[in-house]
Amino acid sequence: MRRIFAAMTGPGGDPSQARAAMVARQLRDRGITDERVLAAMGAVPREAFVPDAIKRDAYADEALPIGAGQTISQPYMVAKMTEDLAVRPGDRVLEIGTGSGYQAAILAWLGAEVTSLERQASLIPEARANLAAVGLEAGVTIREADGSLGDAAGAPWDGIIVTAAAPAVPQALRDQLRDGRRLVIPVGSRERQLLMVVTRHGDEWRDEPDSACIFVPLIGAAGFDGE
Ligand code: SAH
Repeated sequence: MRRIFAAMTGPGGDPSQARAAMVARQLRDRGITDERVLAAMGAVPREAFVPDAIKRDAYADEALPIGAGQTISQPYMVAKMTEDLAVRPGDRVLEIGTGSGYQAAILAWLGAEVTSLERQASLIPEARANLAAVGLEAGVTIREADGSLGDAAGAPWDGIIVTAAAPAVPQALRDQLRDGRRLVIPVGSRERQLLMVVTRHGDEWRDEPDSACIFVPLIGAAGFDGE
């Protein structure tokens, strides 16, 4: 499978064809149904968020290394988390873990106003350049910060998405959620996690497990210890 996609996006390959195949086989065939999410994944060029040396793998069915020991998430996981978040145009969304900027780009394409926090300063200029290259920089503000406790100054958020693995759902993130809205976060050990969808109902929160997943660790106050 990987070889097929590599061949499609290799020299002379057509990224838009590879993108359409990704949407059909990795997303639609596996149960992503939100047409707006499918449209976003079909519109944002993922190759713009992948380092030059591995651009030919941009539509592979896996997470890819982006430097500093971090990864751009697998396309399916980006779509799944976006679907779970249920964003609407104009929503103010907090992302924790900017990485390449790809997830933020998908949210911005959907009309969200994204604030994205990243603790690895070295990744931020690249993420900003990636977003500018696809014309979505106006919808995303990136800041260097330990985002494990969220961003209380900007609360309440219409949605919070954590793209790194947490040992538990940080209470600070529950508190920063607007009533009725959702927090999507992988929770578990450093090695494996369950994607959790947390919905706020007044001062109660419903925690629903979605699917198994593997993310790099959330490092910081409400995350894991640094390496
Ligand atoms: N959403 C990204 C993938 C992120 S990988 C994309 O679409 O490409 C996870 C990211 O979380 C890494 O870049 C890592 O540095 C960052 N991270 C880990 N702990 C963090 C914290 N406490 N605050 C902010 N970012 C954090």
